[in-house]
Amino acid sequence: MIEAAKPPNEIERLAALRSFAILDTDPEESFDEIARLASYICGTPIALVSLVDEERQWFKSRIGLDAAETPRSVAFCAHAIQEPSQVLVVQNAHGDRRFADNPLVTGAPHVCFYAGAPLVEKSGQAVGTLCVIDHHPREISAEKIEALRVLAHQVTTQLELRKKGIELRALAEELVHANQDLDEFARFAAHDLQQPLNNIIALGDLLRTDEEVELSPDTDENIRLMTESSWRMHQLIRDLLVLSRAGRGEMHHDEVSLRSCVDDALGALDSELRARHVDIRIEELPPVRGDRTLLTQLFQNLIGNGIKFVAPGTTPRIQITCARDGDQTVFGVRDNGIGIPAESVEKIFAPFQRLHPQRDYDGTGVGLSIVRKVVERHGGRIWVESEPGRGSHFRFVLGTAPAAAPAAETAATGA
Ligand code: ADP
Repeated sequence: MIEAAKPPNEIERLAALRSFAILDTDPEESFDEIARLASYICGTPIALVSLVDEERQWFKSRIGLDAAETPRSVAFCAHAIQEPSQVLVVQNAHGDRRFADNPLVTGAPHVCFYAGAPLVEKSGQAVGTLCVIDHHPREISAEKIEALRVLAHQVTTQLELRKKGIELRALAEELVHANQDLDEFARFAAHDLQQPLNNIIALGDLLRTDEEVELSPDTDENIRLMTESSWRMHQLIRDLLVLSRAGRGEMHHDEVSLRSCVDDALGALDSELRARHVDIRIEELPPVRGDRTLLTQLFQNLIGNGIKFVAPGTTPRIQITCARDGDQTVFGVRDNGIGIPAESVEKIFAPFQRLHPQRDYDGTGVGLSIVRKVVERHGGRIWVESEPGRGSHFRFVLGTAPAAAPAAETAATGA
């Protein structure tokens, strides 16, 4: 018997084999099916997916064989992997001096015929073989050798896919941990950061209103600025938390009446709507699949902006629109506000992007990024059609098709 020499690239070869994390794992149908097919095509009682480890060959799949592994020193496959581009064919092991006195030939499983196609992974390393074995001498046609080579390629593809699956699962696990860290940070931000800010705001107010404390006008103004900045930071942290929650966490996929989302949003904005005598028109909205809370948040932000970004002295007019575009339904919130310059229509959806100073229009610059997150989580997209001085029309489609087509417009006066 001649024992197979170790290939010159043995260290790299073993590293490639280990990278598949497959040794000593349970049988898998996908590998068994390929081995079964090899046995069927070649007409042999035995077919194996054999992986050649440092000291043994281990079988990921074995058709017609009980042993789970055999020593590498006697393995036919150890010979086969020496020539990664060739299929090793031994027609009669009894007449081959490399194998004649091999215990696998002289004893069970009585190998006589062997054909093994190397499993060559993407960097060129032969990590094992797909092989077929018979107990009698035989010949194999060129077509069957080619079939064995093709099936061996399928085994390697399967190995690579399996590896990708493992990597993806590891990444998903990492993501879960990262999200947990983020959740922890969000909780920390919500409580530990807000609390001292609230104290600063309360103390500032106290100082300014305490009749026993005499403050110079400058000090009074400084304390007012300090309180205002703290209040702004408080709002920023609050909006950041809302943004982080809108992008993650559980999402419902219920049948939702968009009309009731709009109504809830209007309810939340009620005092502003009344104060500004807002004129609201709502077109008929079909039900959609989605998350009612998130969709209400979306309308609240868009309608809130529509009311806020109007020229001084203008009575805000808001229209909730719904139109068919091919097989899509396009929803929208149209206003008669100050409009948005063409060069800014993309950037306003990014967090903290504002086109106006705080003194002109109050805000944190987070609302539209929440809106975009909500739309994207529904598998849709959002854009704005606008012209400075002529109002804006924020429009979006949701990934899920509405249950019914929209119909005529209904009018509702400002709440
Ligand atoms: P915020 O309202 O807190 O400033 P948003 O993310 O909701 O933050 O909006 C970002 C920016 O986009 C606003 O600061 C404003 O400049 C512009 N914008 C949003 N909605 C409108 C609108 N309806 N009309 C004009 N400009 C708008």
